Amino acid sequence: MPGFPLVPDLSGRRVLVVGAGCVGSRRIEQLLAADASVDVISPDASPQVQQWAQAGSLTWHQRAYATGDVDGAWLVVTATGLPEVDSKVSQAAEQARVWCLNSADASSSSAAPMTRVDGPDGIQIGIYGGGDPGRARALRDAVDVALKAGQLPIRPTRRSASRPGHVTLLGAGPGDPALLTVRAAQALAVADVLVVDRLAPAALWEDVGEDVKVVDVGKQPGSHAISQDQINHILVAEASLGQHVVRIKGGDPFVLGRGGEEALACLAAGISVEVVPGITSAIAVPAAAGIPVTHRGVTSTFIVASAHEGPEGVLAAVSDAPHSSTLVLLMGAGKLPSIAGALIGAGRSRETPVAIVESGWTNEQQTTITSLGEAESGTTRVKPPAVVVIGDVVRLRDQLGDLAKSSSDARHA
Ligand code: SAH
Repeated sequence: MPGFPLVPDLSGRRVLVVGAGCVGSRRIEQLLAADASVDVISPDASPQVQQWAQAGSLTWHQRAYATGDVDGAWLVVTATGLPEVDSKVSQAAEQARVWCLNSADASSSSAAPMTRVDGPDGIQIGIYGGGDPGRARALRDAVDVALKAGQLPIRPTRRSASRPGHVTLLGAGPGDPALLTVRAAQALAVADVLVVDRLAPAALWEDVGEDVKVVDVGKQPGSHAISQDQINHILVAEASLGQHVVRIKGGDPFVLGRGGEEALACLAAGISVEVVPGITSAIAVPAAAGIPVTHRGVTSTFIVASAHEGPEGVLAAVSDAPHSSTLVLLMGAGKLPSIAGALIGAGRSRETPVAIVESGWTNEQQTTITSLGEAESGTTRVKPPAVVVIGDVVRLRDQLGDLAKSSSDARHA
């Protein structure tokens, strides 16, 4: 059918439905959702249609179809289950120049239904399965999945000047783009501006469309670091222009990521903020090296601290915790010798195993196993970014080995 795609506005317009069984009820439901003024003609009706009639959502004429019924309707749907009646209705509609969907015979219909997928922001995707409703439904489901997964290009290209800007603080996970959440992919699909730094996976912004602005606020070697105030300012300034700004952070935005500060700065400037949690490197990077941060019979406690705080800060973090607790250190792994010394001084065994996992969830992932005693000597080189794990759970790596599969392995598995 060489049809013309059209979205008729049925709100308040009379639509006649002849037949109120299973097929009729489905169409009626769609028509009510479109706000049409629905007249149903049928000697019997499904319980659902009877309920709608009782609730006043439609008018049910409990009788057989009669000549003249199509007059005054904008659209007729016939679904009586009786081909000769459906055909009579569609002929009458044709004569009266009213569009008609004949459920019994698509070839004698003057219009064909599309299956619809609703997206955010008023997006509607209509699918015509070439007269095969099962195929249309299968396609609809596939489009719906792609839409929900953030895989379709739904970013607006026109916007009203009054559209308010918005900031999404997005956790991009520990390094492998496949560890992004579905919600994160959805937010990226509609971003106008990406504010990025070095820890988030660059693959997320390397091939975005030319009309997406990428602002890199990462510390570039040799150049001045952009201060947190400047980053906050960029977020607020871009959002104030009505842009949908996505601030991409490695791991989770609220784990040693200063996401809280950025959220506060935006709210203080009257900009709405949303957070999309990410998979934090504090848990996922040890996991990649075969180290569960808790393990039955070993410990049920783990502490995440910043090595950047130095020995005093880390000691304060572990002081009340049982010695069996796992200690996960992010940032500043260069301070490991002094931290190891302080932990030994506070009573931890020199034999306590230590794992240093560099560049987790990337092709450069590298794990070094040592002990607190050896770590104190400072002979172990650490290449950032690295997560340091201290505690008996590290021994599980002997049995588990590397557990991170790259996303391409997973696809081929
Ligand atoms: N918000 C982040 C942490 C930011 S602090 C999160 O939740 O993961 C930055 C530190 O995270 C780095 O210094 C390093 O200790 C750790 N880190 C982040 N990604 C890492 C990776 N892929 N491999 C090893 N360490 C990583």
